[in-house]
Amino acid sequence: MTKLSNEYIEEVVKACRPFASRGSVVDHIPGLDQSHLTDLGVTIVTLDGDVFSAGEDHNDFSFQSISKVILLLMALEDFGKDIVFQKVGMEPTDDFFNSISNLEDYEGQKPYNPLINSGAIATASMIKGSSTEERFKRCLDFIRKITENKKISMNEAVYESEVKNGARNKALAYFMESTGVLSSQESDDALDLYHRINSIDINSLALAKMGCFLSNHGRLIGSKKQLISPEHVRTVKAIMLSSGMYNESGSFGVEVGFPLKSGVSGSIVGSVPGQMGIGIIGPAINKKGNSEAGGEALRILSRDLKLNIFHDS
Ligand code: GLN
Repeated sequence: MTKLSNEYIEEVVKACRPFASRGSVVDHIPGLDQSHLTDLGVTIVTLDGDVFSAGEDHNDFSFQSISKVILLLMALEDFGKDIVFQKVGMEPTDDFFNSISNLEDYEGQKPYNPLINSGAIATASMIKGSSTEERFKRCLDFIRKITENKKISMNEAVYESEVKNGARNKALAYFMESTGVLSSQESDDALDLYHRINSIDINSLALAKMGCFLSNHGRLIGSKKQLISPEHVRTVKAIMLSSGMYNESGSFGVEVGFPLKSGVSGSIVGSVPGQMGIGIIGPAINKKGNSEAGGEALRILSRDLKLNIFHDS
């Protein structure tokens, strides 16, 4: 079996970079443009604490949809599984991540799952705190803790752009208000928290540590302290496997075979239970919102390192 090393990760990056030409970089995120098309950073952190990394692994990029995992973890801790899944479903959908039409047809008109935009706006309404500032600070403190990086913070320019370009998210929030998923007091605050957490700057090392935290069932490496209950971590990883790559989750499940979550900045977090966390940045994304080069890197890593959780050796 392939042995993990920095040289091996460098080879993976080299082999996958050309796949970026199949995708394009979103044009509304400040700091991200076509000059980043072929960027690719891949970082692995193992549960033994070893780090293997190559490519543009020091570039900061915005958290975007990976923040949906944080919102779900915190909502589960704050309100418990029963209440959370009264407001949001746990089923995959074949629609795009920002679909509004699917809010009309699902059971009780609630979002299909917490890893699409409508679902994450709904979970953002279930974060405890007396103001959006306090709720955001709780989320940020939690992200800093699980990535062991106190410097992580929100990028103001990205936040302004999320708000400016947030008409679709506003529509989702108000649609959910109209059907009673959100109350009129909740919708604006949930939307603002969602835009803020999307705008946090992060790099592939921090993402790999986040993946590792999930792989380690809600504990930091080397710590016995349970920061999130193992049951909630298990729930989140199951939903990442079925819905973390949006309407491409099925093929990633087959070809990669472990929990993943992507964002439109081209970032991906992966969690190989009991083994490692993977952080990827590859800004060229496909029409479904997933990194082209990053997706290929995951397929190669899974094959070479036998990471598929359904692997029968
Ligand atoms: N900020 C983006 C949005 O709200 C995030 C979507 C994504 O990463 N897929 O639409």
